[in-house]
Amino acid sequence: MADLLQIGGITDTMRERLEAKFTIHKLSDGDYPAEAITHIATNGHDGVAPDVMAALPNLRAISCYGVGYDAIDVNAAKDKGVVVTHTPNVLNAEVATTAVLLMLACYRELLRDDAWVRSGNWEVNGNAPLTRSADNQTVGILGLGRIGQAIADKLAPFGTKIVYHSRSKKDVAYKYYGDLTEMARDVDCLICITPGGPSTQRIVNREVIDALGPQGTLINVSRGSVVDEAAMIKALQDGRLGWAGLDVFEAEPKVPEALRQLPNVVLLPHVGSATVETRAAMGALTVDNLLQHLRDGTVISPVPECAGM
Ligand code: NDP
Repeated sequence: MADLLQIGGITDTMRERLEAKFTIHKLSDGDYPAEAITHIATNGHDGVAPDVMAALPNLRAISCYGVGYDAIDVNAAKDKGVVVTHTPNVLNAEVATTAVLLMLACYRELLRDDAWVRSGNWEVNGNAPLTRSADNQTVGILGLGRIGQAIADKLAPFGTKIVYHSRSKKDVAYKYYGDLTEMARDVDCLICITPGGPSTQRIVNREVIDALGPQGTLINVSRGSVVDEAAMIKALQDGRLGWAGLDVFEAEPKVPEALRQLPNVVLLPHVGSATVETRAAMGALTVDNLLQHLRDGTVISPVPECAGM
């Protein structure tokens, strides 16, 4: 049996499969045989703290339950000869659904109108005020990768015009903007779905938010770090930004009180991929990577930096 360090939670199914080949030690128990640990199972939120990675001399593989791996220092892992894997593709459709759900909820004021019925307002005050149509909008996708493309596909039946910004132009028919502010100026709705980390830190800044404007909608299903949260809250309060639909926040699970008080936001507790079906698929891939690595030293879905290791 090899020794695996478990960081964060895993599902019962994952545990059952892992226990057949690994002795599992939980980081949260505090007491684990550092010298013996060869594998880590973690997730995109908890990642691997630098001191934990540094203290494991025989670590060989880290399997991340999630596609975003900004909480793992991949360069430090590579320097130690440690391969890092993640769970791309199996969650594309689910996260895309979450983005579309937030967009529709903002446009059609789902929460306001639900409250209208529950509060008895309908009976007392009559019909709710009109909302905005989500059809035929121009949507800018910040990060047209695997999930970004799935969002574009899911929006097609709404007659959406898709445009996008990323560092490089992709081989797609949508209009490419090399400048994010310029794109924000031209769209009705901006959907953020880049990775987190230093290169995307607060790239949705005050300038971008102002370019999106009072009629604009900001959807963030990427990482809280991608949006300047304070600037966004101020813009939503001042009416310089119309609406925001957010699955991710700067200091999760802490969400600023000022944001929670706003009527023009829809807030989700980082549930982009959180369905029974998709989490099962992610869990299976997380475990498959670990078992295959144990078997023959290869993995199924390395992060791009570890491809070919
Ligand atoms: P991909 O790697 O397939 O796509 C990422 C896209 O972002 C690419 O188009 C890339 O293009 C672009 N990008 C990367 N860096 C920058 C940058 N500095 N500026 C502009 N664009 C950039 O990743 P996925 O689509 O699989 O996942 C994207 C992210 O979604 C994950 O990393 C994670 O953070 C988030 N996510 C959130 C979930 C949730 O629960 N809310 C669930 C799953 C994922 P280019 O390299 O040309 O810039």
